[in-house]
Amino acid sequence: MEQEKTSATTAEITAKGRTTGAVRCMNCMERIRPPLGAKTFKCPHCSFEWRISWPLPKFPRIRGPVWDVNRRLTEEAMSKKGKGKK
Ligand SMILES: [Zn+2]
Repeated sequence: MEQEKTSATTAEITAKGRTTGAVRCMNCMERIRPPLGAKTFKCPHCSFEWRISWPLPKFPRIRGPVWDVNRRLTEEAMSKKGKGKK
């Protein structure tokens, strides 16, 4: 009789185990929390910008980088390194 309790809880445990609304930044691996429904989100830790999709209402997923922003960041980083070479 008591065994019936266990089967229903699996989904609940899985939902509780995840931090709602948080994803892991694919550049610096920090947890980031985009505002609900945001299409893009800039990581506050490394300034890379990500395209966000919402497969479930409260669960964001990173679709990919925003190349315009990330390329500019990369170029800036490169040009800083390159300075002083002449
Ligand atoms: Zn980051």
